[in-house]
Amino acid sequence: MKLTAIANQKGGVGKTSTCVNLCAGLGMLGKRVLMVDMDPQGNSTSGIGIERGTLEASIYELIVDGLPLEECLIPSPWKNVSVVPATIDLAGAEIELVSAMSRETRLKKALETAKFDHVIIDCPPSLGLLTLNSLVAADSLIIPIQCEYYALEGLSQLMNTIDLVRSHLNAALKLDGLLLTMYDARTRLSKDVAAEVRLRFAEKVFKTQIPRNVRISEAPSHGMPIQYYDASSPGTTAYNKFTKEVLKRWQSKEG
Ligand code: ADP
Ligand code: MG
Repeated sequence: MKLTAIANQKGGVGKTSTCVNLCAGLGMLGKRVLMVDMDPQGNSTSGIGIERGTLEASIYELIVDGLPLEECLIPSPWKNVSVVPATIDLAGAEIELVSAMSRETRLKKALETAKFDHVIIDCPPSLGLLTLNSLVAADSLIIPIQCEYYALEGLSQLMNTIDLVRSHLNAALKLDGLLLTMYDARTRLSKDVAAEVRLRFAEKVFKTQIPRNVRISEAPSHGMPIQYYDASSPGTTAYNKFTKEVLKRWQSKEG
């Protein structure tokens, strides 16, 4: 079982889109996938087609109340994908966990009994306890980078956090890579940002770039991964390519 977090404390960079579409892509390839929504906004929960109003248990019960995983996960409408959903209750967890025992390892412990090929964790746009729990539970992480101004802003802070996690809580945490998102081939800016990121981070940047594609932004409002919403869209092609590329990285020795 491989656990991967999708993190960047900047909001709106494509974490949730990448999480939902990677889960669907892996599921289509026959992998059994658990998507874990660690963002109180619950965008990946609703984006993958789960009604938040009807839930009996969620990530909050899993990491705060210690309810067993089997009671907190539900199947999604998509092939091979189950979900630990998030509700707004999770916003309180960030504060409630501060005084809790083993507050950084709650998610890791909760996922110990999981029986999936892949667990993909969608992080909130912050470096608080919820992201920390995700990085402690994870074997590896993917950092989406939006091809816009200030793309690299905050990245050194994220890298510092990763180093701290490695030296104190999870020595084995690997960086799978940086994923360029919302790439617009028509603009100079996108090209410049992509070139700069590739220059600085070299082979750590995934070859696949996710194009800016309106179908990707429409899909969540229908509660559908892009592959099911519009199979022939450039977004589907890109996310399927990315899914295969990341699978290859996971399978390679360096991970
Ligand atoms: P995050 O989880 O980092 O906040 P999201 O995945 O929610 O980022 O993306 C932010 C917004 O941009 C959302 O409205 C989403 O639908 C849109 N979006 C994400 N990726 C793309 C893309 N490749 N093309 C067009 N819109 C995108
Ligand atoms: Mg998000």
